[in-house]
Amino acid sequence: MSSYDYDLFVVGAGSGGVRAARMAAAKGVKVAVAEDLKLGGTCVNVGCVPKKLYVYASEYMQESEEGRGFGVSADKVSFDWATLRDNKISEISRLNNIYGNLLDNSGCERIKGRATITGPNSVSVNGKVMTAERILIAVGGWPYVPDIKGREHIITSNEVFDLESFPERIMVVGGGYIAIEFAGIFAGLGAHTELVYRGDLFLRGFDQEVREFTATEVARKGVNLNFNTDVESISKRDDGALDVRLSNGDIRVVDHILYATGRVPKTAGLGLEETGVKVNNKGAIVVNDHFQSSVPSIYALGDVIDRVQLTPVALAEAMSFVDQVYGSGEGQLPDYDLIPTAVFCQPNIGTLGLTEEQARARYDHIDVYVSDFRAMRHTMSGSEERTLMKLIVESSSDKIIGIHMVGADAGEILQGLAVAVVAGATKQDFDRTIGIHPTAAEEFVTMRQKSRS
Ligand code: NDP
Repeated sequence: MSSYDYDLFVVGAGSGGVRAARMAAAKGVKVAVAEDLKLGGTCVNVGCVPKKLYVYASEYMQESEEGRGFGVSADKVSFDWATLRDNKISEISRLNNIYGNLLDNSGCERIKGRATITGPNSVSVNGKVMTAERILIAVGGWPYVPDIKGREHIITSNEVFDLESFPERIMVVGGGYIAIEFAGIFAGLGAHTELVYRGDLFLRGFDQEVREFTATEVARKGVNLNFNTDVESISKRDDGALDVRLSNGDIRVVDHILYATGRVPKTAGLGLEETGVKVNNKGAIVVNDHFQSSVPSIYALGDVIDRVQLTPVALAEAMSFVDQVYGSGEGQLPDYDLIPTAVFCQPNIGTLGLTEEQARARYDHIDVYVSDFRAMRHTMSGSEERTLMKLIVESSSDKIIGIHMVGADAGEILQGLAVAVVAGATKQDFDRTIGIHPTAAEEFVTMRQKSRS
């Protein structure tokens, strides 16, 4: 019999922690999970799930306008922030309960409170010290906000979902996933929305053509884009409005300023330094291919190791960890090179594999197929929205090495195509696949004309 209180003590009940805890418990491992906030972590509470619900709200607003071209109209379309927010709160609370039930039903012990690691095999929660053969740190990340004058007036993705009232004027700072998604949400819901990004063009790291195309579409949806611009200071007026001074000398008056300038591992106060767990210069826990830290009994996965900050990656890491430690030991590491991802801006971006720039740098010969068109629904909707699809092919093997889309449901479409690309599909495989007509997605199997080589 083990001399420890638990076989596995999981710190953090987010996507990665809960998956690892449940899967380990299903193998007969004695597991405890500590969480001080709500179950489900960032994704469920202040990330993917509520964000997608708010994107739906924003899309409903647009679609209600677009129906007119098809003869469908409502007298007056209105939006009530409190209804959206409060229905979201109920839905998230339902999901929190489901997470609790999942843990309970799999036999994990739930502990409410913030855990501190006190040694290679010991953890303290609410003053009680417990021991475990292994400790898994899955505490996730936290919004990073640069040190600017008036920082106390900003909000982050932690606060934005639960604002007391709908901001008529909002500024979003940053050029990554969160900034672009929220700019789209607020603009779609009717707020005067500005996006401020320090570089030439947002979405650094994405395919250049995708970035340019997205900028055109996001601007078309009413987001006022300010590139090569930074915030210098923020001050509050007596009426609560914020004066934002920009690096170009302009001053904007807004109701809220949302900072979406990245997320950092949430390791403060966890006891890592005292225990000898090594972190890198960004504060992320350094782990090997077995998710093992510099202290062999302490493991980590998910956003806290900062490989790729995505829920499905944390889930894949959790599955790999459980299989390596408690299963056959052959658990595959996630393939970090081929991760499909979507940005839920409007329209969505879906992407997998290499950008055209990366492909050119890596291979001698590539073929690029690009299609830029107006989707059928917009021939009558009155919307000018366009769709971009792009295939990047390695010429000698004919393999698809990059696939990108900006358009309605790009996330949904890319998920299916990702299976083919991960399985090694060639351009010829795409060509011999019969299209589903009439869809936008069929364009991916009917692109015959190379745009460039
Ligand atoms: P990102 O890392 O995607 O983007 C951060 C942005 O902030 C970049 O544009 C960056 O600019 C900018 N920035 C960083 N520091 C500063 C600074 N000091 N001043 C001004 N701008 C700054 O982070 P997000 O916060 O958008 O999202 C965090 C992570 O969450 C993402 O990486 C993603 O993995 C995940 N996520 C995934 C979603 C999805 O799958 N749909 C949705 C939301 C989040 P620069 O490019 O110049 O460095």
